[in-house]
Amino acid sequence: MASEEAVGFAPIARCRVCDSPELFEVLDLGVQPLANAFVGPTEPPPPRFPLVAVGCAECSVVQLSGTVDPRLMFDDYAYFSSYSSSMVATMRDLAQRTVTDERLEPRDLVLEVASNDGYLLRHYRDLGIRTLGVEPAANVAAVALDEGIDTRVEYFTARLAADLRREGVAPRVIHANNVIAHVPDVHDFVEGLRLLLHEDGIVIVETPYLVDLIDRVLFDTIYHEHVYYWPLAALVRVFAEYGLVLARCEHIDVHGGSLRAVWRHRRSDDHGLEATYLGEETARRLTSADSYAVFARDVAGSGRRLVENFEAVTSSGLSLAGYGAAAKATVLLNYAAVGESTLCFVVDRNPAKQGRLVPGTRIPIVSLDVLQQSRPDALAVFVWNIWTEVAAQLHWYVESGGRLLDPLAGRRDQ
Ligand SMILES: [Zn+2]
Repeated sequence: MASEEAVGFAPIARCRVCDSPELFEVLDLGVQPLANAFVGPTEPPPPRFPLVAVGCAECSVVQLSGTVDPRLMFDDYAYFSSYSSSMVATMRDLAQRTVTDERLEPRDLVLEVASNDGYLLRHYRDLGIRTLGVEPAANVAAVALDEGIDTRVEYFTARLAADLRREGVAPRVIHANNVIAHVPDVHDFVEGLRLLLHEDGIVIVETPYLVDLIDRVLFDTIYHEHVYYWPLAALVRVFAEYGLVLARCEHIDVHGGSLRAVWRHRRSDDHGLEATYLGEETARRLTSADSYAVFARDVAGSGRRLVENFEAVTSSGLSLAGYGAAAKATVLLNYAAVGESTLCFVVDRNPAKQGRLVPGTRIPIVSLDVLQQSRPDALAVFVWNIWTEVAAQLHWYVESGGRLLDPLAGRRDQ
């Protein structure tokens, strides 16, 4: 490993969740740039770090083999949740349902950890509920603050939770959407949830589900910001350590398949409903290296097919571009070593990414206007999680003879 790669990267020797030294390799995606390290064409390329997922023989969590300094990743986070319109609708429904189910009243507080631009809390506010966001990325939090959504610009830690509790903050509902996969010190994080949560409150945690990642070969969701790939068993284990038990759990169709797990304080000696939800997962033997062999083979096959699919377009003299400069695109393009000689540009609706490069490549990121003007023959859609929405937005492109490609078509050998 070159020495410059070690700067800002701390390899682990033991499981971050259960401290076991029995870790085994699940997948090696090589040395990659941070998936959201968007730099301009004249700036130096972003640094690269090993991207290796390891399994734990004790608690079954899958995690990265090392930690990149979070300050390199989140302070200027380019992901604005509200840019995805299907997500806006889903969040409105979630807020509405939670207000009804938990019988929330205007004096009750809903707090969201990693509240982004207020994409969820604004719906609670519209329903007349008090809200507070915690969001470390100042540029993203500024959007929420501008909309009048009270937001603490900080990382969520046990220390912050203790401070908030002293200020009288005791949320009836805490949301943690797509954040528990990102936080290396998950123990401190869950301790913070315990400290802060109202005694009759619930914590709603959404996180991509390891079993879906494996079964659907979603290896493009593995990148440095995602330290963990959670099975339910490992979540139950770490929450139980802090006196939080499972109240219910849903398997939802977000990010290729996620868990929406609801936690509450343990009362006397109960274990919540963990037994109800864990049976199927136990049968998967996620603590065994053998269980991942097919997955690793499928990933290698997907990478080869992606290159073949792209070459089939370009070798016949047609032009190819991409849609969605999401982290997934960075992972795929770097893994398959696809560059600007294959993809002329990647379209993204987020102005913060336009004019910059797909990390680790020289592929420019452009606005929809450029797509309209230059009309490439085919467009590889990297944001498969919002495929339906994207296909609807690009109806005009397909109508005018353009072709949408799924870069990972046939990701499983079936
Ligand atoms: Zn473990």
